[in-house]
Amino acid sequence: MDRFTGRVAVITGGARGIGRATAERFAREGASVAVVDLDEASAARTAAELPLTEGAGALGVGADVSRADSVEAAVARVHERFGRLDVLMNNAGLIRDNLLFKMPESDWDLVMGVHLKGAFLMSKAAQRHMVEQGSGAIVNVSSTSALGSRGQANYSAAKAGIQGFTRTLAAELGPKGIRVNAVAPGFIATEMTDATARRLGVEPEEFRRLNAEATPVRRVGRPEDIASATAYLASDDAGFITGQVLYVDGGATVG
Ligand code: NAP
Repeated sequence: MDRFTGRVAVITGGARGIGRATAERFAREGASVAVVDLDEASAARTAAELPLTEGAGALGVGADVSRADSVEAAVARVHERFGRLDVLMNNAGLIRDNLLFKMPESDWDLVMGVHLKGAFLMSKAAQRHMVEQGSGAIVNVSSTSALGSRGQANYSAAKAGIQGFTRTLAAELGPKGIRVNAVAPGFIATEMTDATARRLGVEPEEFRRLNAEATPVRRVGRPEDIASATAYLASDDAGFITGQVLYVDGGATVG
């Protein structure tokens, strides 16, 4: 498939995990890809390893999505390099889980800052170029945790906020040719879920097995599951879809 030939995709948190798998997917489908991540060296390493098609390019950019100056500089670099911006995936994230009574204010601010403010800042900077072009697609990363998740008051609120943000941007930007959707992953095997396992004192392998057992399709998700859903939502195949939240969770929220 070459759904993204001649297009430019920006993936935040793209150096590893879900973001990296999605960057690879866009590259394989013809896009030029900008991998934006906190650490410039990791972003550049991933960018250099992408399976690009002929004529496409890759760029690694070090940026903190929760800081306006950093975001402005990152989006400017991407636009300077490629001359356009077609797809933005707001994927950068972290967790700071704790029960409410033990959650420091700083962890609330950090999680809100990266997920929610990060998506706001990146979308605001990217849409300028998309509006100029008269086209674009934004895919925000929510989570099944948006529905409520013990020990994740900060993360759950941020991921629920992403859903309202998505619907609102869809209404505002639709007339400009820009579609905005969200994917809401369930349990995906990445360093993020491995870290949760270790924090709970469970081996990551065992944690995955237990989560697979509790999931209707009897497996946990792979980063590629989110990559393919994101690529679909960002592609012309989804040209009449905007303001939607697609749960990609093996049925975890239904059974
Ligand atoms: P991951 O492996 O931990 O990757 C997250 C990436 O985001 C890391 O490369 C991290 O950089 C980067 N990042 C963190 N803060 C950043 C910031 N301020 N600016 C720029 N980049 C930043 O996580 P993942 O599992 O792939 O998760 C990706 C997204 O999916 C997140 O939004 C997450 O909440 C969401 N999600 C994941 C799951 C799951 O089960 N894994 C489920 C639902 C939703 P560093 O390595 O330098 O920290």
